[in-house]
Amino acid sequence: MINKLCIIGIGLIGGSLARALKAANEVEHVVAVGRDTAHLARAVELGVADSYETSISAAVSDADVIVVAVPVGSMKTIFSELSGKIKSTAIITDVGSVKGNVVRDAQAELGDELSRFVPGHPIAGTEESGVDASFAELYKGQRVILTPLEETDPLATQAVTQMWHAAGADVESLSVEHHDEVLAATSHLPHALAYTLVDTLAKMHERREIFQFAAGGFKDFTRIASSDPKMWNDICLNNRDALLDMLNRFSGDLHKLATAIENNDSEFILKMFARAKTARDQNC
Ligand code: NAP
Repeated sequence: MINKLCIIGIGLIGGSLARALKAANEVEHVVAVGRDTAHLARAVELGVADSYETSISAAVSDADVIVVAVPVGSMKTIFSELSGKIKSTAIITDVGSVKGNVVRDAQAELGDELSRFVPGHPIAGTEESGVDASFAELYKGQRVILTPLEETDPLATQAVTQMWHAAGADVESLSVEHHDEVLAATSHLPHALAYTLVDTLAKMHERREIFQFAAGGFKDFTRIASSDPKMWNDICLNNRDALLDMLNRFSGDLHKLATAIENNDSEFILKMFARAKTARDQNC
């Protein structure tokens, strides 16, 4: 049971964690922190938080667990505001979709607190944002990846693992670098492709007719292009190298497919599509 949980950034991800822990009776009091008092008041009205603060130092001073759930580009400022203001036993974690830059920001801004910082990333979400989109079941049966550092206190990792288990998630550990490579391939590349595909079509003259005839497959493939552009701009730039590597690989394979179509190379196309079908059928 967590006595006081402070969630900095009570949107889809932070709000869903608060809801899940409340539903499981695993938290006594949730205090929310954000920039907009209307959003914070809404979190209290919805019962997602018990109270709110706009000042980080006021909110964190007696918190037992602090979850930083703001966009990855804003984490550095939050870490610097936290530093020196928390209890000596308090544990800090984050939910950022990129780990390398977040860890570098934590190393630059947190002092002694770094040993009680456990970097994390729930592999769950929707294309919606804000506390109204949050729901208690978001993490049920989903994975959370923790990327503890050499200096991370194992007891802090254990406490964060327990918190996510209480929210219904399975917890796994990866190195920071491996996390960013894997997520560039499985999440950041698909978002970049979905945005690009919809944008390519949206710029065509016949776009009204194209979208009118778009069927289930197109909607399935492009659902994630409805995600928050600001958040995804942030993620792409914060995982730049790993994402560029994936984009280059993908462009190379797309170019090979275009060449095969141009040359009526059925053998190449069939082999490629069959390989992809087998991989998807076996793994998804
Ligand atoms: P969201 O719904 O937009 O929530 C972000 C929250 O952060 C909002 O409540 C916002 O409130 C607050 N915020 C933004 N900047 C802030 C700042 N500088 N100081 C204090 N609060 C700030 O976004 P989300 O989807 O929950 O994403 C949050 C984090 O989770 C991101 O790091 C993202 O990479 C990660 N994540 C997202 C997903 C997903 O599918 N959405 C999945 C896994 C991880 P105000 O605007 O009122 O300040």
